[in-house]
Amino acid sequence: MYNLVVFGAPGSGKGTQSARMIDEYGLYHISTGDLLRDHIARDTALGRVANEYISKGHLIPDDLMIEILGNTLDTNPDTANGVIFDGFPRTIEQAKALNEMLAKRGSKVHAVVGLEVDNDELIDRLLKRGQESGRSDDNMETITERLNVYHSQTAPLRDFYTNEGKYHAIKGTGAIDDIFNSIRNALKDTDK
Ligand code: AMP
Repeated sequence: MYNLVVFGAPGSGKGTQSARMIDEYGLYHISTGDLLRDHIARDTALGRVANEYISKGHLIPDDLMIEILGNTLDTNPDTANGVIFDGFPRTIEQAKALNEMLAKRGSKVHAVVGLEVDNDELIDRLLKRGQESGRSDDNMETITERLNVYHSQTAPLRDFYTNEGKYHAIKGTGAIDDIFNSIRNALKDTDK
């Protein structure tokens, strides 16, 4: 089991680089954002709760998010071969819970890929994506809130994973292929 966390601000390219990494490493992809949007599209009870938070740019509460992630691991046997966690963890609480969930399965987070992009570039990308994707949370007001939430609640994970010796800082600007090559190089020597 080889588990990778793809970490970064909204608009840092987590989804794009995760897609490349799935092909390269043959891992199961869990995007908590995609998972929640799927529930919203199907108008499930969870989707209705999630939409309250997502539309405001806030995080789904930790206990609910951790439960959803545990269920996803339990109900998808393919996750046992290794997972790319995209958009999870987003708080220290979630990171600790992930360590526990993986330890129970005899595994761990092997490496964290941190896509680093400055704020102005993030705002440009998210506004552009909003025009193309029609995502309800890619408008200026929600983007500002999501970036505030990222800096206050999620960015501290950089230190958390640096202390665990797992954080790989990757420059998240430039050509998609070049960014992916940097990821591949950074992960070359991680234990699997
Ligand atoms: P994303 O597609 O990863 O940008 O996620 C979109 C939105 O889903 C976020 O702004 C949050 O409202 C919610 N979300 C996704 N993942 C998480 C998470 N791990 N914890 C809390 N909320 C999340």
